[in-house]
This record gives sequence, structure tokens and C-alpha cells, in this order.
Amino acid sequence: MVSDTPDQPDETEADITGTTPRRYPKPEIEKIGDRKLKPATLMMGHGYDPKLSEGSLKPPIFLTSTFAFESAAAGKRHFEGVTGKRPGGSEGLVYSRFNGPNQEILEDRLSVWEDAEEGLVFSSGMSAIATVLLANVHQGDVVVHSGPLYAATETLINRVLGRFGVTFLDFPAGAGREEVDAILELAKTRAMGNGRVAIIYLESPANPTNALVDIEMVRDARDAAFPDDPPPIAMDNTFLGPLWQQPLQHGADISLYSLTKYAGGHSDLVAGGVLGSKTCLDPIRAMRNTIGTISDPNTAWMVCRSLETVELRMTRAGENAEKVCTFLRDHPKVDNVGYLGFLEEGSSQRDIYDRHCAGAGSTFSVFIKGGEAESFRFLDALKVAKLAVSLGGTETLASHPAAMTHLSVPDARKKALGITDNLVRISIGVEDADDLIADFEQALAAV
Ligand SMILES: *Cc1c(COP(=O)(O)O)cnc(C)c1O
Repeated sequence: MVSDTPDQPDETEADITGTTPRRYPKPEIEKIGDRKLKPATLMMGHGYDPKLSEGSLKPPIFLTSTFAFESAAAGKRHFEGVTGKRPGGSEGLVYSRFNGPNQEILEDRLSVWEDAEEGLVFSSGMSAIATVLLANVHQGDVVVHSGPLYAATETLINRVLGRFGVTFLDFPAGAGREEVDAILELAKTRAMGNGRVAIIYLESPANPTNALVDIEMVRDARDAAFPDDPPPIAMDNTFLGPLWQQPLQHGADISLYSLTKYAGGHSDLVAGGVLGSKTCLDPIRAMRNTIGTISDPNTAWMVCRSLETVELRMTRAGENAEKVCTFLRDHPKVDNVGYLGFLEEGSSQRDIYDRHCAGAGSTFSVFIKGGEAESFRFLDALKVAKLAVSLGGTETLASHPAAMTHLSVPDARKKALGITDNLVRISIGVEDADDLIADFEQALAAV
């Protein structure tokens, strides 16, 4: 929320009912009677009071690098909070590397989607991930992660943190309890005497395999392996969040986002987000304050605007994807479609899906009959779908992982991950579903 000045008296019940005149009226309407308002409703006003900004219905973009203190004492109180000399942390805004009104509104609104205690926004998905890791990892520590991960995340963990004496152990995204138990035991043994098992980092569904991680199972395994001092479980929720999966509700401590994708949703910005408890987020906020990985006010404003339509957009994209995948599955020039909506009844992946996911998303893999040549002919013939990496935008995108995003992955690893030459990656947008089917039909005819 837009912060009050540090010396504002505590809100009281009387303030909220309006019986006492308040210096800074701030309507936080989250309920009507017993009815808790839904995220889609809260996206239009939550965390922002027009009265604080000349009645402007929409939040202005606050372009400032610093904020005026009401008094010297208020300034002192702020820094006592920042430095820990006074419990409760800092109040109010002081400098834009730490936070600003637009970013705070966005943090409040993003938190609503996962019922998170707090949220933090970042200049990109990767700067969010880097800040989470830097806040949690020390020299000699071991990072346990699911695999595969977003390529830059793998580079960060394996190569960059590796330069500082951090090592990692991974398990495949679809792994069962025994495999995860074994990796955690191995990690504990390796860390002993050097450091700790610092964090368990998950990504689900994995890209481009769409393999799902069982967060509840990982949480149970973590609790059994570390009864005293459990490392936090962080999960990259970019592919299904915030609408179709809420990791915090299934045992993750930290939910991470590239807001560049579905949350931003228009392929016109780069941003990141982190959700979780205050306890988990405090060290991450402190690291963000130190290194300045917060998003800028303009981008935060754009993401706020995007969140007003995120449910509409994701719902439509999800419906479109189901129609397109149903068409593609039966096409004679298609081998297979890797779509979460088609998981086999009774399989362990289907079981995870039923427990964790509210929808199958709109990003999937199509295996064209043939190899690179056939896939390229298909891609080059598309008229509506655009040829580009990324996902979650209003427009439909198609790409070829083996020749593009995963070109530098060694052949053996590509094979292990199922990244074949006939794999085309598609992110469905909010266009007319039948137009998209017509486009895919004519492109397949050209193969
Ligand atoms: C795009 C993406 C990222 C990185 O996000 P940026 O906003 O590009 O920094 C991280 N994880 C996943 C799963 C992604 O798709």
C-alpha cells in the first residue's frame, strides 16, 4: 500500500468505520460482510487510495528518487527501523532503490493472488531469482534443485554461484519421494563441515518438458530430512501463475515469477516478483535494498494495469490452448502434443496436476512428424502466430527450442530432456481460437 509517513498513529477499528476523522484515510475494502473479495475484484483498487493523489482514479507514476521526511525525528525513526535498532523494520518510503508507491501497490496486488503475507517486485525474473539466491546462499552451501530449470537459472546456480564455492545437486522434475529423499541425504552429507543445504529450488512445470514437481511431497521430504532448521523451498511459478497454480498453498515458502510472461502479459515489459511470508522475504528485501534489483515505477505501473486483466487473459488463453491442442493432437502430421490437459488418467503426473493445478496453461510442445526441416517449414508458414521466444503474451508465439533457446545445451543433455529436432514450443494468446486453428492447419499443410 502507499505508505503513510512514519509518525502516523496506528489504525483503529473506529478509523475503519469512519467514525473518527483520519489524517490519511485509506479504504482497504477486502470484504463485503463475510464475503472475501476475489483477486479479480481487488486488482482495480487494492493498495491505492485516490485521496492521497489529488483524487486521481488511477495511481500516478511516482517519478522520484527520494522522499521527504516529515521531521528529523521521523527520519531517525526510519533509519532505526532499517538498521534493526528498533524492532518492526522500516516504515514509509525514503529512497527509490528501496521502494516506491507504484512498486508497493504492485506488491500488494500480486500478493493477493497467492494469499501471500508479502510480495517484492524486481527489475526482471532473473534479478528476482538472483536476489533470492544471494539472500539465502553462503560459501560452502549446497543448493538442491529440480531439473531442468530455466537456462539462465541453471547458469546462475551452476556457474556463477559455483565461483563462490556453492555446489548443487538436482533431481528430475517428475521424481518420486525416494529419489528426493536420496538427493537430500546426499546434500546433507556434502554440506556437513562446509556449510548448509541453503535452499531447495523448484520449477514446475519444467520447460520445455512440462514435467510437474510434487511440491507437497518435496515439502514432506524436506521436513523429514531437516526437522530442526529446514531450508526454504522456492518455486518458479512463471508458467502457471498466478491463476493456475499457487505454490504457497502447496508447501512452498517462496513463490517466484517472471512477471514478463503471463502477469505482464503483453510482451512489452520485463519484471519479476517474489511472494511469501514476511520472515522469508525480509532477508530478500534487505538484499534487494543493497543491490538495487527493484523494478522501476513505470514498469510497476504497467504490471498493475496488466493485473487488472490477468484473469481474463489467462482464462481466454487457456480455453484457446485446449481447442488448439485438441485439433493438433488428431492431425496426421503431428506425432504428439505435450500439453498438461492431456496427462494420462492414473499417472503420477496427473495426480500432481489434480492436486496442484487449476488449469493446463497455454504453453505446450508440439512434436511435428519429421525433424528440423519439417519443423522449420511449419514455423515459417505460420501467418498469425509470431516466431519468437517467450510466452504468456496476448499474442500466440512459436519457437524451436533445439535450434534457439536450447542451442547451446549439449546433445546428450538435450536427449535426456526430450528436446528433439521436431519439437516446436507454442504459447497461445487471446486471439480467436478458430483463427489460430486455421493458421496451424495451413502451416501443417506446408510441412
Ligand atoms: C522468462 C523466465 C524467467 C526469467 O525471467 P526474465 O523476466 O526474462 O528475467 C525465469 N523463469 C522462467 C520459467 C521463465 O520463463
